[in-house]
Amino acid sequence: PRLRGAAEAGLGVWRRVRVLVRLRRVQAELLSHRAKTFLTVLQMKKILLVEDNEMNRDMLSRRLIRRGFEVAIAVDGRQGVEMATTETPDVILMDMSLPEIDGWEAKRMIKGNPQTGAIPVMGLTAHAMAGDREKCLAAGCDEYGSKPVDFAELIEKIQRLTGESE
Ligand code: MN
Repeated sequence: PRLRGAAEAGLGVWRRVRVLVRLRRVQAELLSHRAKTFLTVLQMKKILLVEDNEMNRDMLSRRLIRRGFEVAIAVDGRQGVEMATTETPDVILMDMSLPEIDGWEAKRMIKGNPQTGAIPVMGLTAHAMAGDREKCLAAGCDEYGSKPVDFAELIEKIQRLTGESE
């Protein structure tokens, strides 16, 4: 009986060791998962969306967030210029037809400010207006998109502007 007891005690120790090893492995996996999540958050690109139309704004911001971007929203040109400074976005999506200050003037102010001048700006105008692309690029926009927005194309352009090759 004494022998059997010793054998059982030995088994108990091994069982405990095995449980501990498994626990350490789970902890290590959890840590690496957390590290990956943290890195993803660090690499997240921030977009400043300047759009006065509430429906466009909601639709676009929701889709951009779902696509893994951080999104800051300005509802007119004046707020767009302010938030370009305070939010330091990686890219600005700017509707050109805006109240307070229109997109053309807002873009000029952002590009003229040394603090925000290097931020790429993508101008957006309604589909109907021909020649907007040329006008926008000539005015110093880094990219141009027409509305309604082709989302896949928009993402491609944003990734090019932010130097993200995915
Ligand atoms: Mn508008």
